[in-house]
Amino acid sequence: MTPNEQRDREPKGLVFNIQKFSLHDGPGIRTIVFLKGCPLACIWCSNPEGQSAAPELTLSADRCMGFEDCDRCLAVCLENAIGRDENGELHVDRDSCDGCGDCAFVCPSKSLEVSGDWVGVDEVIRIVEEDDAFYTRSGGGLTLSGGEPLAQGAFVRALLTAARSRGIDTAIETSGLCNWKTLRDVAPLADRIFFDLKCIDPQKHQRLTGVSNRKILENFRRLRTEFPENDVVVRTPVIPGVNDSEAEILAIAEFVEEAGGANAYELLPYHGLGEPKYAKLGKHYGSSHLEPPSETRMNALQRLATRCSPAHSASPVHERVDQ
Ligand code: SF4
Ligand code: SF4
Repeated sequence: MTPNEQRDREPKGLVFNIQKFSLHDGPGIRTIVFLKGCPLACIWCSNPEGQSAAPELTLSADRCMGFEDCDRCLAVCLENAIGRDENGELHVDRDSCDGCGDCAFVCPSKSLEVSGDWVGVDEVIRIVEEDDAFYTRSGGGLTLSGGEPLAQGAFVRALLTAARSRGIDTAIETSGLCNWKTLRDVAPLADRIFFDLKCIDPQKHQRLTGVSNRKILENFRRLRTEFPENDVVVRTPVIPGVNDSEAEILAIAEFVEEAGGANAYELLPYHGLGEPKYAKLGKHYGSSHLEPPSETRMNALQRLATRCSPAHSASPVHERVDQ
């Protein structure tokens, strides 16, 4: 096999963002690679561009130069997916758009962009390695997030293996909803697994995320049973009126204890920073009425969670902007 053939056979991943110098989602300074595709659709999701497993067109209408003598995007779209309404505002017919990106290519103002690029392992590793010196000094490394990274199992395995072989610390963030075989194969390659548990009640989970939590809870149990040595941090995004009661947090903490425990239990406060992304994707954000929980409330819940898991280390309430 020639080197070119070999390269073409290597798995590629659909990545929508690579964020450098993150201080969350693992120890030290980290590079976060966000992968597209997620089986959940949480009503508070702050990364809606991570949900679809295909490249997606985004439209920032306020950036469009608005010259009708521009309209380059309309001219190149073979699907006739772009039009203007009666006020002259651009709109995209999402049912017709196939995400080819021809319009983004010709748009001079970057009003139109495509979220999601197919990239190879070597390309990602090259970007991650640019900050090697910072990882060494801070104890940081690479974290895979999303979307649900384990929805791209072959790519994630190859990427973590490549990072490990270079001595880079590895972490993944998962919703826990994936094929068990994928989690089983990835677990030994990750120095830390951030495992989201959003609520225990299956009907409520279905209502809030679009899916049952049966497989998620089962995967957590198997992970703790078959990989007890793995460093696992449980995380719960605390959503006002959804799971911010003592009873909800206690139910999760008790499940974790009974399933084999965790190295830490972190609570993440809801934030609405992802809301503007919904309009760019032509989606509706159903959580604009929510306010972030107060620091006092978060600290009280975190104390409760910690008290219920006395064998495990308490983690401070964690501010994160990409939950
Ligand atoms: S991404 Fe392609 S199909 Fe979609 S609007 Fe642009 S040119 Fe048309
Ligand atoms: S190509 Fe870009 S700047 Fe020109 S009309 Fe389309 S969105 Fe606006």
